[in-house]
Amino acid sequence: MELRDGVVPTGLGQDGPSVLTVRWSDGHEGRHRVRDLRLACPCAQCVDEWTGERTLDPATVAEDVRPVSIDPVGRYGIQIEWSDGHATGIYTFETLATLCSCAPCTPEGGTPA
Ligand SMILES: [Zn+2]
Ligand SMILES: [Zn+2]
Repeated sequence: MELRDGVVPTGLGQDGPSVLTVRWSDGHEGRHRVRDLRLACPCAQCVDEWTGERTLDPATVAEDVRPVSIDPVGRYGIQIEWSDGHATGIYTFETLATLCSCAPCTPEGGTPA
């Protein structure tokens, strides 16, 4: 989804072990495969700061990686600590919205339950 001005997450939840749900203030019910979020980590360890190239090798990320804690960062994002110990990634609301894989956001059918 494209994030409109002033729209923020109002609640985070989980739908089974592998799906993170994000409720947005405009009523959008976002869904994310948690491993896809881990693979999309925007931190300097996972993305080359200069080239923007993703340096994280998906083969090194466990299939069952899970968030262990999610903390708000200011008024613009969240920081996720993962079960593999990685905790440096900050996902801005805009990034989260872009990564949303709920059915309306993904023509090919969305995140399975
Ligand atoms: Zn990272
Ligand atoms: Zn969505």
